Amino acid sequence: MNVLVINAGSSSLKYQLFDMENETIIAKGNCDRIGIDGNLKHTPFLNDKPVFNDAIDLPTHAEAIQAVIEKLLSAEYGVITDLSEINAVGHRFVHGGPKFFNSVLIDDDVIKALEDCASLAPLHTPANLMGINACKSIMPGIPQVAVFDTAFHHTIPQFAYVYPIPYKYYENNHIRRYGFHGTSHRYVSTAAIEKLGGKAEGTKIVTCHLGNGASLAAIKDGYCIDTTMGVTPLEGVPMGTRSGSIDPTLIEIIAGIEGNLSIGDTLNILNKESGVLGVSGVSSDFRDVETSAGININDGSRLVGSEVNPRSKLALDIFNYQVAKYIGSYAAIMGGLDAIVFTAGVGENSPYTRMGVCKLLKGIGIEIDIVKNGFRGRSEFVDVTGEGSKVKVFVIPTDEELVIARDTVYIVGAETLE
Ligand code: AMP
Repeated sequence: MNVLVINAGSSSLKYQLFDMENETIIAKGNCDRIGIDGNLKHTPFLNDKPVFNDAIDLPTHAEAIQAVIEKLLSAEYGVITDLSEINAVGHRFVHGGPKFFNSVLIDDDVIKALEDCASLAPLHTPANLMGINACKSIMPGIPQVAVFDTAFHHTIPQFAYVYPIPYKYYENNHIRRYGFHGTSHRYVSTAAIEKLGGKAEGTKIVTCHLGNGASLAAIKDGYCIDTTMGVTPLEGVPMGTRSGSIDPTLIEIIAGIEGNLSIGDTLNILNKESGVLGVSGVSSDFRDVETSAGININDGSRLVGSEVNPRSKLALDIFNYQVAKYIGSYAAIMGGLDAIVFTAGVGENSPYTRMGVCKLLKGIGIEIDIVKNGFRGRSEFVDVTGEGSKVKVFVIPTDEELVIARDTVYIVGAETLE
């Protein structure tokens, strides 16, 4: 009963092959820097097979999935001998739109419905659909399930999800805050509640999913009550290539500056050329930006003697400031805060970001331990709370894949899988 989970982000693709009899991982890996250059790290957990970790050309997500399947089957690094050993595929799917509020078995009608709401998540939905279509052609007949990022945010109250625009757009066109990264916010907030004593009632947590895409969620009593992303993943904090929230009039202004650009092309600038990339002019990858800002990516310290690109430094300052601003506002509306959780690529790996955000929140009693915080890339829970802090500061590696694998088993059903 093996489930392959595919988590296709805008520039990365994580995968895990689970044996769901006992929820163990048979193999896992990560395609990184898709569309930039490409790297594949593949770790098999059977028969002492070696790890593969090397640069590999990954122009799109289709090549990434092909590379993953080849590694899973390969004599040197593989864990299965035949494709039929993969019983189901679970896909992280970013936007459920107005139709999908729960995980769903994928068929042609579902694909059509998902294509119809692609404009709501222009960076992710095409990547997710490429993943589904690549799996369909490489593994025809194997059931596939979509698990939606939007689902966990369904408990947000109406006053937080209805936009203050003419009400008809909500009523007739389903325009509202949906929120994203729900599977991740669900997983890390559940883990944080465990660390706070196991009782959800009475807890106030802000989860910071900071990756190439980034969002925060305010979680009270275990339920999401607000989140930074909106009807699309463009709203909220700045990201690798997305602007996050801006004055909407900028769309007209930028279009005019660029010689009457279409709305679509202008939004492309906000989705693909803005954020940390747009300000720094260096990269959308925080590692590159931190290095060019003269920061040691391993511990967040200053790289002595290195040149500092002021625009890279500014891009990181803008990012930290906006993240801190949302944490402060969520603490206010929840009437306090028990814990902040950092997760995803940047949250789990960037000591500089965690330190920078927490330093801005000293005024509300948040302290980070600089020494404990000086790490990246650990695959375990780390408490980096500073001495005297009124709020716990946790780094929790997200595990969207496990949640997706469980949902996939649930949807496909044990009989079909056997
Ligand atoms: P995700 O979208 O969660 O896969 O996160 C991808 C992002 O994580 C990339 O854009 C990188 O910028 C970031 N990242 C990964 N490792 C590091 C690191 N050591 N320091 C800073 N950022 C990192």
